[in-house]
Amino acid sequence: MARITSKFGGSSVADARQFLKIKDILGRDARRRVIVVSAPGKRHTGEAKLTDLLYQCHHAARKNIPFDEAFSLIRDRFLEIEKDLSLNAGIVAEMEAFHAQILDGATKDFIASRGEYFSGKLMAAFLGATFVEPAECVFFDRAGRLDPRSYDALGARLADETKTYVIPGFYGADADGHVKTFSRGGSDISGAVAARAAKAELYENWTDVSGLLMADPRIVENPRPLDLVSYREIRELSYMGASVFHDEAIAPVREAGIPINIRNTNKPDDAGTLIVSKLPEVTLYDIAGIAGKKNFTLFTAEKTMMNKEVGFARRFLGLFETHGVSIEHCPTSIDSMSVLISSEEIGDKTEAVREDVLRILQPDKVEVESDLALIAVVGEGMARQVGMAAKVFKALAEAKVNVRIIDQGASELNIIVGVSNAQYEAAIKALYAEMTTK
Ligand code: ASP
Repeated sequence: MARITSKFGGSSVADARQFLKIKDILGRDARRRVIVVSAPGKRHTGEAKLTDLLYQCHHAARKNIPFDEAFSLIRDRFLEIEKDLSLNAGIVAEMEAFHAQILDGATKDFIASRGEYFSGKLMAAFLGATFVEPAECVFFDRAGRLDPRSYDALGARLADETKTYVIPGFYGADADGHVKTFSRGGSDISGAVAARAAKAELYENWTDVSGLLMADPRIVENPRPLDLVSYREIRELSYMGASVFHDEAIAPVREAGIPINIRNTNKPDDAGTLIVSKLPEVTLYDIAGIAGKKNFTLFTAEKTMMNKEVGFARRFLGLFETHGVSIEHCPTSIDSMSVLISSEEIGDKTEAVREDVLRILQPDKVEVESDLALIAVVGEGMARQVGMAAKVFKALAEAKVNVRIIDQGASELNIIVGVSNAQYEAAIKALYAEMTTK
């Protein structure tokens, strides 16, 4: 039977009520057999995420400071779930052992991983499912990257398709067999690895929102949900600020051609956002969405006959490399070249870089402009259409937005415009209205 891998994030396992919702969701589709869980998240604003409390315990223990307060909060969260669901998962004894391990100098990664571990233990007991220990089958190589042998190793643990499996997210084992975690938010990656290992037909990512929206709802009133989006589009949108899920969670499933469905545990009837490798020929809109980020700095060096000066571009870009600053875009014209950098990235190095540009490149002029925002209009459909750029610039002109930078990648997957921070919101509103009107 074809299987679905369903990963439930922190808010979906925050308390017993959420566990009950998960059971209901699993009951709706018998293919949901491979379950990956995060550590319990916040139940309300103001409450700490369990993983953060675990990091606090580690930090305090290392400094020989008591960590009882944070530890009690952790223990009580798990005991409460166990009690509310009338389970007998042996949490009390395991918590005692864990406390001793912290005092004994357990590693940061081991301590942090226990949020997912206990969450997984409770979920397996609740569902009557088989618990799979990731430290035995999800491996990292010496460079700290996921070892592709994990797919077969985990796959072997998930072999019986009639069973339901629960796998804690967020961790595996390093090359020496010690518990190692992914980066924060990494249960998404575990879910992707499990989906590939189980040769699942779908990777569901259950969270507390019904998928992505075509624009930021803090700027655009009631933006439309993004029903269908390609991996390439999602990559562009998340790079430009639309928060989806962990970047590294895309590769394992994308390579295996497994679609991702972002769903809402609190609204299981909503279809959510489906991420696929190939979009159908006809989609509702030519664009997938609009995303953007504020606070970029633009360095422009102007020099007459620059286009004839061999090595100018290399030396200009090289200066940023020397200062350890990564760059985002470099719009150029005949006698000028600009480099766009996130303002946070360049920070207090701005003056030093400017001085180097003047000294080494001897340009006629250097200009540094900060407070710029970038906006990307993203959509594979744009490549097939004539007049997309016209629409973008008409909308911006009508909204009296001054466009400072224009950039379209050769893939025609996006059009990026740079505007002042102050006109960012107005630009997004105007673009959204124009691009979603037929
Ligand atoms: N619990 C981990 C974190 O808070 C991993 C995850 O939830 O994805 O980062």
